[in-house]
Amino acid sequence: MHIRRAKIVCTIGPASDDRSTLEQLIRAGMDVARLNFSHGSHEEHAKRIAVVREAAEACGKPVAVLQDLCGPKIRAGRFPGGTMPLAPDAQVTLVEDSKEGTEAAPGEIPIRYEGLAQDLEPGDLVQLDDGRVVLTVTKVDGLRVGATVTQPGPLRDRVGVHLPARRVRISTLTEKDKADLSFGLSLGVDYVALSFVRHESDVRLVRDICEAWGRPTPIVSKIETPSAIDRLEPIILASDAVMVARGDLGVELSPERVPIVQREILGLARIHQRPVIVATEMLQSMVTATRPTRAEASDVATAVFDGSDAVMLSQETASGNHPALVARMMARIIGEAEGSAYYKPPSSEQPGARANIPEAVSRNACDIARDIGARFLVAFTESGLTALYASKHRPVVPIIAFSPNESVRRRLALLWGVVPIKIDLLRDPDQMVERANAFLLANGFVSPGDKFVAIFGAPVGVSGTTNSIRVKVVE
Ligand code: PEP
Repeated sequence: MHIRRAKIVCTIGPASDDRSTLEQLIRAGMDVARLNFSHGSHEEHAKRIAVVREAAEACGKPVAVLQDLCGPKIRAGRFPGGTMPLAPDAQVTLVEDSKEGTEAAPGEIPIRYEGLAQDLEPGDLVQLDDGRVVLTVTKVDGLRVGATVTQPGPLRDRVGVHLPARRVRISTLTEKDKADLSFGLSLGVDYVALSFVRHESDVRLVRDICEAWGRPTPIVSKIETPSAIDRLEPIILASDAVMVARGDLGVELSPERVPIVQREILGLARIHQRPVIVATEMLQSMVTATRPTRAEASDVATAVFDGSDAVMLSQETASGNHPALVARMMARIIGEAEGSAYYKPPSSEQPGARANIPEAVSRNACDIARDIGARFLVAFTESGLTALYASKHRPVVPIIAFSPNESVRRRLALLWGVVPIKIDLLRDPDQMVERANAFLLANGFVSPGDKFVAIFGAPVGVSGTTNSIRVKVVE
């Protein structure tokens, strides 16, 4: 039986927020449910979180909830009939959309951004829907901005809008984000993702809010702006995980830069032991199709070969025609890549670099597991940190992470190669190892004579004290 190492993040939306589809998604391989706060009301999100928790309980699998804050994303308004076709060279007028919900007048594109006309000049490019539609500003007349369609296409309601980055004057954490974050924390989300991070201070601000709430929650920085690329290392260090948000990245930079930046982020995050989620358009054609394009399958496999901790589905599962089928396909592509001779996930270890004690113990346990041909690494973890260190070392065997703490088990669901399992709080290492032995045998993971390597801290029950390795021959 292959235990999949790279994890799957699925965005939950109208196509996937019912209990049955969520259970199908979890059984198909969903490890993390992403709630995109660019869309939906608090009431809808509260319901989704509750149903994700119920479905995870029913499937007996920890699933993390990732709250994705909208950030300063500028959006178009609504169009009559939900769409507006734009022909090549058509003339359109951009207007400030100050009232949520009103439909656009013919020939107008409402944009929700205060001071739109002040911040645009003739010659500026306005990109909509991740750059699928492009307008060139021709004139600014009072509050109205004239533009020509330079790249045609249909516009859907509320698509994202990119104004020239140097002009945008909105802070990374908007008032809406602050309200959404408080709401998410009150419901105990497991991760918070911050959109359009520009500086490490953006991440610190979110951390301070979480701490003031008494709910320290891991923060995923979405890397999608040129400023974030300029400050990549300090942003990674300030964050608990990062996301290669390729949709906006491909607009803010250019599509051909995306694969390079993806590798740059994976490389730096590996050194600093932060998990990386590679996101957007991974199996995009499956929003409608029942099979991916060969290029999409290759993209997912490449992300896996390059050492991604997780890969993400967006529209495919949020509003696509067959969410569970897409998640199953993603799991199959990952499984095939991981089972191939080409899968050699790069380790975080820096030759000669110093490590703290839990880090060194975790790494050495991975090496022992490889050297003695053990079947599993077993981590007893209070905070999840030991499992993270082991995960980033990319051991050849899966990591069974036993934790008494439910929210830690949910967070561990994002980590590469980690299978989070519940255990009662035990105080004695002998008992803990015996419990792991019984669990692995009972679930058919091992047979008598197989070996596993356990890591734990002694004295037991104190977070951050991982200092012991034990090799166990299964009996
Ligand atoms: C992205 O831009 O790739 C992304 C993940 O962010 P969002 O879906 O919020 O636009």
